[in-house]
Amino acid sequence: SMASPALLMRVVASAYSVAEKAATIVRNVMSAGDLGIVEKTGANDLQTKADRLVQMSICASLARKFPKVTIIGEEELSTNEVTEELIEDGHCEEILKRTCPAQYTGIKEEELVIWVDPLDGTKEYTEGLLDHVTVLIGIAYEGKAIAGVINQPYYNYEAGAGAVLGRTIWGVLGIGAFGFQLTEAPAGKHIVVTTRSHSSALVNDCISALNPDSVIRVGGAGNKIIQLVEGKASAYVFASPGCKKWDTCAPEAILHAVGGKITDIHGNSFQYNKEVKHMNSAGVLATLRNYDYYASRIPNTVKQSLVP
Ligand code: AMP
Ligand code: MG
Ligand code: MG
Repeated sequence: SMASPALLMRVVASAYSVAEKAATIVRNVMSAGDLGIVEKTGANDLQTKADRLVQMSICASLARKFPKVTIIGEEELSTNEVTEELIEDGHCEEILKRTCPAQYTGIKEEELVIWVDPLDGTKEYTEGLLDHVTVLIGIAYEGKAIAGVINQPYYNYEAGAGAVLGRTIWGVLGIGAFGFQLTEAPAGKHIVVTTRSHSSALVNDCISALNPDSVIRVGGAGNKIIQLVEGKASAYVFASPGCKKWDTCAPEAILHAVGGKITDIHGNSFQYNKEVKHMNSAGVLATLRNYDYYASRIPNTVKQSLVP
């Protein structure tokens, strides 16, 4: 007989469709031309109409299906009124058909925390660097990122007519990650990917100390994890506060599902229980392979400047 799918698989299957709806909203707001930009803490910390509408869409859609799950979104929104057209109630059949890893079959709604970054790479979105943008839905259990969905609404946007625009990547620990071609970075080359719009002397000093062959500066935490799993970069290094739990939860689940590793700059793992501090105060260090090579070369002076 067919048992009904485990809660975790139902949440991931729904998050997949909810992220696709989010991507449509991201593209529609841009085509309509009025981004409605608001500065949060300053000119490098922005919110647009897309950030707001997408967060309402994701949070309301998932809350309707999974009312006891804790959902934490990046944006502070003044209204909870959500129009029906923002609700997505579909799911991905293919994900529902996958077997839930045994250690997760007994999970109850009350035990899940979903971290939502409705639009990661907002600064780049406002500057037209559209493929830097991702929608991040991370799923945590017992403080660990165990599943995630990353949608890249403008994947392929420079590939020209005929190319399918946008893609959805999903992953679960113990199953794997899908929606992209897992590729290792060129052997023996040290290619560091880091922030484009939130650099500092410390961020740059840390990268210099690693003596990389090249440095890629792009927006978004989601985008940078994609660079790692597609072999464009060998390490994501960000020696600064600024990145939050909603930036790292979904990327961490995808990266860990394919055998990579993400920590703060000291090597501490991130915690995702609902009470946790949002800020990743001690930065980010992530790799698909060779984590220890980079971790062992982070200067002590950099570590001393970043208190977890
Ligand atoms: P970045 O690599 O600069 O695109 O940053 C990755 C994520 O962390 C994005 O969501 C940024 O908005 C966020 N972030 C990083 N540094 C800062 C900062 N100094 N202020 C606000 N947000 C930041
Ligand atoms: Mg973000
Ligand atoms: Mg965001």
